[in-house]
Amino acid sequence: MSEGEDDPLDKDILSTLLEILCCPRCEGDLSLTSDASGLDCVQCRLRYPVEDGIPIMLVERALPLIGNLAEKGE
Ligand SMILES: [Zn+2]
Repeated sequence: MSEGEDDPLDKDILSTLLEILCCPRCEGDLSLTSDASGLDCVQCRLRYPVEDGIPIMLVERALPLIGNLAEKGE
């Protein structure tokens, strides 16, 4: 897998945004995905998409989080 040059600037802007953004549903913290293509809310198990560097903070646009992330309590 070639990662290429992630745009570090975009990521930087997103991390700054992260400090002011919160989940519109639960108002909890969000975490940026490693490829900066989404913002995850672990509580709601939702992923808000990031399109062209702009987070789409709409519950109806969010995708359900599946897999590992949610299952760490066992
Ligand atoms: Zn939430």
